[in-house]
Amino acid sequence: MNKIASFTVDHRFINEGVYISRIDGDITTYDMRMEKPNTGSLMDNATMHSLEHLFATFVRNSEIADDVIYFGPMGCQTGFYLLVRNADNAQVIRVIKKVLEDISVYDGAMPGESEIECGNYRNLDVNLARIKAKEYLSKIKDITEKDLEYSKGGVIGIIGAMPKEVAAVKEMMDFCKTEKIGTLEFNVGTLLGHNVVVAVAGVGKVNAAICTQTLISKYSPEFIINTGVAGGYKRLKVGEIVVASAVVQHDFDTSAIGDKKGQIGGINIVEIPCSEKVSSEIVKALEDIKTIPYERGIVATGDQFICDREKAEEITETFGAIAYEMEGGSIGQVCYINNVDFCVLRSISDNGDEAASVSYEVFAEEAIKNTVSVLEKFLKNR
Ligand SMILES: [Zn+2]
Repeated sequence: MNKIASFTVDHRFINEGVYISRIDGDITTYDMRMEKPNTGSLMDNATMHSLEHLFATFVRNSEIADDVIYFGPMGCQTGFYLLVRNADNAQVIRVIKKVLEDISVYDGAMPGESEIECGNYRNLDVNLARIKAKEYLSKIKDITEKDLEYSKGGVIGIIGAMPKEVAAVKEMMDFCKTEKIGTLEFNVGTLLGHNVVVAVAGVGKVNAAICTQTLISKYSPEFIINTGVAGGYKRLKVGEIVVASAVVQHDFDTSAIGDKKGQIGGINIVEIPCSEKVSSEIVKALEDIKTIPYERGIVATGDQFICDREKAEEITETFGAIAYEMEGGSIGQVCYINNVDFCVLRSISDNGDEAASVSYEVFAEEAIKNTVSVLEKFLKNR
């Protein structure tokens, strides 16, 4: 059997709102979502039933009365479907808000509250409908036609090592929920119309690997972006962006037994290539922004904060790396093994030399603003 359209929408990323569920010929089905799915908050039957009676009555007496085909609750108790013929979206939104407003102050008799008119007439309460209408209206009062689309499928995983690296991204999100797995927190929601999961991995390769594998196993992302700060090769300036073309692990060294320096056991390669598609979309965002300088190149990862010019030079000579950080290489390895696309987007906070720790302290926060701007533009472009 074919999957029906409403089962193809990823319910993990639906927030309270009004959405176009489907269009069949001249009939538009609106998803009036009143509760976030699968969070435990549900409408009880009396509330749904009461709201059904009142909303149906008001909407069938509204300016779109003749075009209302159906209004009724979803079996999952998180919303209603409204079917309208020849729908003008702006008008329908206006009517929905007006009807909710009218219900929220209604103090007349419940329409259809008799044994003759209803199949369970004792299970009705004007007050319950009033409360729910008011609550839902407060959540959708600012929506416009632009908000009627479900967020786009294909989950994007965004991983930062430290809370400050993703704080601004989280601020821009519409949260559906936060899920804890072990000590890791996964922030599930939408960001500029996209389904995203944002996580703070902790510093270093093992932390990053655990977080990446968990995110992949649990949320099956289309791709992962690792964002944050990095030390940059000496010509790079603080705030400049590095978009990784590939990642390496500079501290992976089995050269004593004949392997290449940085060759990763198991996958037996040194450079793990980043997704060409995602990287070029990030570069496109940078080109659009114009004001943030950037370079594309190899990013080197290891379990140490590089603050030694000689060490930095050595990494650059060995691997051709233009930036040094502590997670990208292991995130890349996990993605590679799982066949998930990834990209590393870093803003330079220091130059990996003796002044690095001070530079990092002073500039990290400022540098992060640039990665956030790039991410924002990248998502808007999609
Ligand atoms: Zn009834």
